Amino acid sequence: MEYEAVIGMEVHVELNTKSKVFCGCSTNFHAPPNTNVCPVCLGMPGVLPVLNKAAVETSIAVGLALNCSISRWSKMDRKNYFYPDLAKNYQISQYDLPLCYDGFVEIETDNGPKRIGVTRAHLEEDTARNVHTIGSSESGVDFNRSGVPLLEIVTEPDIGSGQEAYEYLTGLKQTLQYLGASDCNMEEGSLRAEANISVRPTGSKEFGTKTEVKNVASFSGTQKAIAYEIERQIAVLKEGGVIVQETRGWDDRKNATVSQRSKESAHDYRYFPEPDLPPLQVDEAWEQSIRESLPELPHDRKQRFQEQYGLTPYDAGVLTAARPIADYYEAVLTAGGEAKPAANWVMGDLQALLTEARTEIQDCRVAPEHLAGMLQLIADGSISGKMAKEVLEEMFATGKSAKQLVEEKGLAQISDTAELESIALKVIEENPGPVADYKNGKDRALKFLMGQIMKATKGQGNPKLVNEILVRELNKH
Ligand SMILES: [Zn+2]
Repeated sequence: MEYEAVIGMEVHVELNTKSKVFCGCSTNFHAPPNTNVCPVCLGMPGVLPVLNKAAVETSIAVGLALNCSISRWSKMDRKNYFYPDLAKNYQISQYDLPLCYDGFVEIETDNGPKRIGVTRAHLEEDTARNVHTIGSSESGVDFNRSGVPLLEIVTEPDIGSGQEAYEYLTGLKQTLQYLGASDCNMEEGSLRAEANISVRPTGSKEFGTKTEVKNVASFSGTQKAIAYEIERQIAVLKEGGVIVQETRGWDDRKNATVSQRSKESAHDYRYFPEPDLPPLQVDEAWEQSIRESLPELPHDRKQRFQEQYGLTPYDAGVLTAARPIADYYEAVLTAGGEAKPAANWVMGDLQALLTEARTEIQDCRVAPEHLAGMLQLIADGSISGKMAKEVLEEMFATGKSAKQLVEEKGLAQISDTAELESIALKVIEENPGPVADYKNGKDRALKFLMGQIMKATKGQGNPKLVNEILVRELNKH
């Protein structure tokens, strides 16, 4: 029997507003424990929450970017449960009326584009963080995270493989970063992904028993965990076993999912409307003003790069993967760089330097105008592509312009025709053997003569010009 996988994802994203969602405390992640706190986010009795407008606007912007409808009327609800990281014993969330609903994210698959339905995106507050120190018998609770705005984005069970989950997460992260809605740092927990995975006989309409995989630290880890879990479930079923509904984690060293806790029944959170917050009303004008403020999104920008600059889908995809790269590339073009060479240098040598230095393009010392200047020097024959590699490395290290470096280092290519002609004539006179070989149709001799001229110019002869002059002079002999 053949099986197919059915996967839905829940992603929690911390929104990067300056202050928390129901109080004025800072959301700064790097503050010392329990310094960004007040009676509201510590969950003291009798305090009153006030909804952060920026958190609502950011949520709506994300919803619109994910092709969602925005609720004209929604509300906040209390989700009741007890845990040490939740001092007031309930989390303010949204239950039956989420702010955003019915959207989709388009991903690329081997069979073409595929839409992953977004069921809902709702606004809630993050909990505090339990801190367990290894080797200590005590645990602490850090309330800095308590009350940080969190958007929970839930998909339909439309994802069919680990690879599709990876594509979905990557596309979602790109969109969130383009919007400036979140830094999506998985290691710091500002993006947390959970996958609900089940398998069923191919073509069957019923869902199998699902397991939940959570707390994986990377997208590639999530992809591997899902792929593993699909295989594991199929193997259990083929042996006549049953799937246990449970939460599983990912063990990176074993390359396997491991059982964390069984989940025999759904919790009853006793949701009820939050009595201390009025209903949330979003009228059309407000929604429209947010829609108009949206930046160009990754998918659209990729399309435009192909049409406007004649880039391949692959190149356009790489250059628009992150907004800072796309912005940088367009700044190079604005400064006079040509589309295709600029794309090659940004994706190739510059990216390699950035990777090696573990730095981001927005912190790079090569100004877009300077890269454009370097491309200009290549285009007009002042430097060769090979020299340019050296120049770029220096630009990267010093922040100087290409022109300045070429002058300082005396790197400029010799494009003086008269000078090259006299060197070519000298080389021809000194090498009668190879010249005769060339006349007899031996192409290798031409390479040798070229090499002699380049040697005489200390590698600074403009290779294209040297070739032209050499062939011309040889034909005169
Ligand atoms: Zn607070």
